[in-house]
Amino acid sequence: MNIHEYQAKALLRSYGIPVSDGRVVTRAEDAKTAAGELDGPLWVVKAQIHAGGRGKGHFKEPEAGEKGGVRLARSVGEAAEFARQMLGRTLVTIQTGEAGKQVNRIYIEDGSDIARELYLAMLIDRQTSRISFVASTEGGMSIEDVAHDTPEKILTFDVDPASGLSDFHGRRVAFALGLEGAQVKQCVGLVRTLYKMFLERDMEMIEINPLCVLKDGSLRCLDAKMGFDGNALYRQADIMALRDETEEDPKELAASKFDLNYIALDGEIGCMVNGAGLAMATMDIIKLYGAEPANFLDVGGGATKEKVTEAFKIITSDPNVKGILVNIFGGIMRCDIIAEGIIAAVKEVGLKVPLVVRLEGTNVELGKDIIKNSGLNVIAGDNLSDAAEKIVKAVRG
Ligand code: GDP
Ligand code: MG
Repeated sequence: MNIHEYQAKALLRSYGIPVSDGRVVTRAEDAKTAAGELDGPLWVVKAQIHAGGRGKGHFKEPEAGEKGGVRLARSVGEAAEFARQMLGRTLVTIQTGEAGKQVNRIYIEDGSDIARELYLAMLIDRQTSRISFVASTEGGMSIEDVAHDTPEKILTFDVDPASGLSDFHGRRVAFALGLEGAQVKQCVGLVRTLYKMFLERDMEMIEINPLCVLKDGSLRCLDAKMGFDGNALYRQADIMALRDETEEDPKELAASKFDLNYIALDGEIGCMVNGAGLAMATMDIIKLYGAEPANFLDVGGGATKEKVTEAFKIITSDPNVKGILVNIFGGIMRCDIIAEGIIAAVKEVGLKVPLVVRLEGTNVELGKDIIKNSGLNVIAGDNLSDAAEKIVKAVRG
């Protein structure tokens, strides 16, 4: 789960990590008061969406100004005007895709005098199963571009969980960032605190871009992106409370309400499968026959008719879905339950694309009979590859 920049900065502040003073507003009429509470003479007006690249982004509506989602204001009035222009508009950045994201909150910050912009991130490296640090002198720009053009300017290393973090790691970061004197000590403290926070708050990643050296020589985090492990949120109630459902894929949100494991993908074949392993195999075999899956969906071992109905509705609500493959191995799950769920869903939302169903296991004959007698236009698949071949053929011809 991701959170907004202003929320991430509040968390950083609670750990004593230096960030600017700021106020969040959701209504244009509050912007002037909020900006007035900050010292100036520079104000930074920042659109709050769960995507980076806001500074270089653009709004779909020209009246929102052409300067993107991070703007520097020279007066309280100007800051309030920028906030008014951005609120409710759609911001398109390199990370939002063409559709962009609606700006519902604005963060107004006390502007900093920047000397240098640096990059610092931490994430869980799934290759090494460790927490890794990424640091670069090339802050303020896309780290993907830096990695592509000048990979030698990026330092990455991971921390052995057995020995944990030591000041040595912090000094490594400080030297890679070209810091000197008192900054080295500040950086060592920053790295130590970030590591502690990362562990305590079950984080998946934190990206501070830019981490700035200010004109007075001190370090400050001017942007922050944070992601948390969804499976650990049950023990992070205050983080869970920061969830902004308007930022999430509506299909993934609906799925999470029904406890379905669903991930939206870019392909054209919707999949409904029970068991993560079978879901992966189903996606693989769709690719093998030359098409792309539209989603990963594991309805779970003990799904009810209601859950199956909901899953089916989520799949059919995706306009990219040109065909559906249901692949169920009934172990704990009974095939007749699946069949009833499919029929209930089709009655509710209709079926406008080809549907291939492959059932195997507990009550398979009963399940097949239910579907056969329903009068639905369903193509039966005999086994996994037969089913995949049939759905790809039905979609691609
Ligand atoms: P992003 O574009 O979504 O990554 O948003 P950032 O928060 O990183 O802001 C983009 C850029 O705005 C930064 O790289 C800085 O150059 C600039 N910026 C952000 N905050 C300040 C500030 O307090 N003072 C100044 N002078 N520039 C800022
Ligand atoms: Mg940034």
